[in-house]
Amino acid sequence: MSEYLSFKRFITPGFIMVIYLLGALGVTLLSIALMLSGGIYIVYGVIMLIFGNLFWRVVCEYMVVQFRIYDEIVMLNRRMGGGPMPTVAPAAPAQPAAPATPTCPTCGSPLRYIQQYQRWYCDREQKYV
Ligand SMILES: [Zn+2]
Repeated sequence: MSEYLSFKRFITPGFIMVIYLLGALGVTLLSIALMLSGGIYIVYGVIMLIFGNLFWRVVCEYMVVQFRIYDEIVMLNRRMGGGPMPTVAPAAPAQPAAPATPTCPTCGSPLRYIQQYQRWYCDREQKYV
């Protein structure tokens, strides 16, 4: 598992870079093809060349950041002595547990704690349990 993770750790940024270069090449070639079409397409080509590459760059940087966050979570998890990281996103913070109110064993209605007698009282049956 740790081998798999370290593999991912070192390969992923390179993998994204390859994807980025292929995508940038695709966008650039498409832009040039548009510009070669002439007329208004020259403007479209220039816009695509600039903003297409810019957009693609942002997408790839976002992916790199995501993987970095993942790596840091894995490292934090290890430092805290946790097990291998699940593939899902970090869980939402646990909801604060509601104060445990026991229910009456005979009628099932919630019990009330009477501090004075240090006993649980059933309001419905009007008796201590
Ligand atoms: Zn009861």
